[in-house]
Amino acid sequence: MSNTIENEDIFQSHFLAEKTTDEPLIRVMALHALAYCERLFYLEEVEEIRVADANVYAGRRLHEELDKGSKKYTLELASQELGIRGKVDYVRTDAGELIIYEHKKGRSNKGNQAWPSDHLQTTAYGLLVSEHFNRPVKELRIRYHADNKTIIIPFDLDKAKEEVLNAVKKARGLRSSLGRPQVSVPEKLCRACSLAPVCLPEEERFVEEEKEKPLRLFPAEDEKRVIHLLEQGAAIHKDGYQFVISLPDGNKKSIPGANVASFVLHGNIQISTQAIHFCAANDIGIHWLSYGGHYVGALQKGAGYVQRRHRQYETFHDPLFKILLVAKLCRAKVENQLKYILRATRAKRSNETQGQEALQASINSIRHEIKALARIEKSLSKTGNETITQHDKVIGEMRGHEGRAGREYFKALTCILNLPEDNFLYFNGRNRRPPRDPFNALLSFGYALLYKDCVAAIQAVGLDPCFGFFHTPRSSAYPLALDLMELFRVILWDMPLIASVNRNQWRKQDFEITGQQVWLNKEGRRKAISLYENRKREKWKHPVLKYSLSYSRTIELEVRLLEKEWTGQPGLFARLRVR
Ligand code: SF4
Repeated sequence: MSNTIENEDIFQSHFLAEKTTDEPLIRVMALHALAYCERLFYLEEVEEIRVADANVYAGRRLHEELDKGSKKYTLELASQELGIRGKVDYVRTDAGELIIYEHKKGRSNKGNQAWPSDHLQTTAYGLLVSEHFNRPVKELRIRYHADNKTIIIPFDLDKAKEEVLNAVKKARGLRSSLGRPQVSVPEKLCRACSLAPVCLPEEERFVEEEKEKPLRLFPAEDEKRVIHLLEQGAAIHKDGYQFVISLPDGNKKSIPGANVASFVLHGNIQISTQAIHFCAANDIGIHWLSYGGHYVGALQKGAGYVQRRHRQYETFHDPLFKILLVAKLCRAKVENQLKYILRATRAKRSNETQGQEALQASINSIRHEIKALARIEKSLSKTGNETITQHDKVIGEMRGHEGRAGREYFKALTCILNLPEDNFLYFNGRNRRPPRDPFNALLSFGYALLYKDCVAAIQAVGLDPCFGFFHTPRSSAYPLALDLMELFRVILWDMPLIASVNRNQWRKQDFEITGQQVWLNKEGRRKAISLYENRKREKWKHPVLKYSLSYSRTIELEVRLLEKEWTGQPGLFARLRVR
């Protein structure tokens, strides 16, 4: 007769705390990941990237269902000898021998086999249980709930030890390596992998094989919301899994924590310690902006991401690598500026309007700078590291071309706006810190919002925003966030802003003018935030990857593609262009 394990005195809850050792124990679930894909193991265990997708939640729900109604016990075991630790689903005894159960939400392999990763995981549990209770294990049973199959695997102690110890050896080797393994598993495994949106395997295959169009495993839209708070004196608290926002007029609003991507706090907004804890534990960003729209800082999680940052530092210290990134970035920025001007002035240029000559001169100048940048990029691609002796000089040249193109671009914006000098939004060149006219106040405010999103995307990917490749740390702003912004200024802010000016969406009353300084007031900021957030939600088709996604997701995608320049297949960063 078989007994459930909890009927026996010896089967109490077992927690075996991991002792501090030179070689930390490996989670059995990590061995499961290793058998599935070495890169998955590395991303989860070494780089500490975990993504809970719908499949992961479904697995958790299955285990909660199975626990219902049964006497709860926990069998959490560890073995120094094997080098592993793990939590066993369920154990029964049969004539003194043990039977290990593992429940899986999915289907079995071909209806009659266990998947290799499930086999390794359950075998490791068998060894842990056998060692802990000093009893033989008869068999392993893996129950696949999707096709209602139970696969029974006879347990052979020697074979099991060999299989698990080999896996542990491989896992330790990977854990001590600084390099992320390449994508090497079949596509179908990636489609079911929770880390696909972070790993971007299809984009790597795309660069390697130049397929027509990669399958999009990267989410096209943000499911969560960015909450901006402008009400001075408002406060955020946590209540269970909800945030409660108390407004100065006494009104309160509740938002489920699961729906929030980040908070953007403009000016004097309070947030409780408990709410900050909750945000840190659940990857919810907090960004503080001054009342005037100046970016103050963000909540940053604690340690982690060591490997990613280490690789980033190494790369940005490699002069040739750095110069090539600068070349790509400058060209993308200036080409986007030109494309937008050409698009916005197509009608004007054919109608010979006032300012046509000046506009054409700016277009010609920008084209000239693009050619110069392309020449530098071409010569760099033929050059070896050892032959570039004056790296800073080359970067300085590119900065010069980019700067001159930028000045021409802003001159051209004056023609695009075509407002009379007495219009309150008349624009006659960029000024900032502080902005001295309403149009510059709008530009600065939108760029601050964009900067905030660039910082958030860099943090989400786990890179260090303090360490950029183009901008130097001369101000309190993060150089890498400033680098990334260059790709998005035109697309995410200049274009929707100029369209809104053409639609007469702004009023003089949206601004506060104090002496030489001009700021957006509360209503003006509300309008600008709405314009910016709506633009972020718009979907567009990536010109190279050919799949559609929101602009908001595109920012994070670009950071991931930037990281691929040194961790995987390079060649996709900074290729987005205005259509
Ligand atoms: S997406 Fe594919 S390559 Fe990347 S970790 Fe998952 S299974 Fe491995």
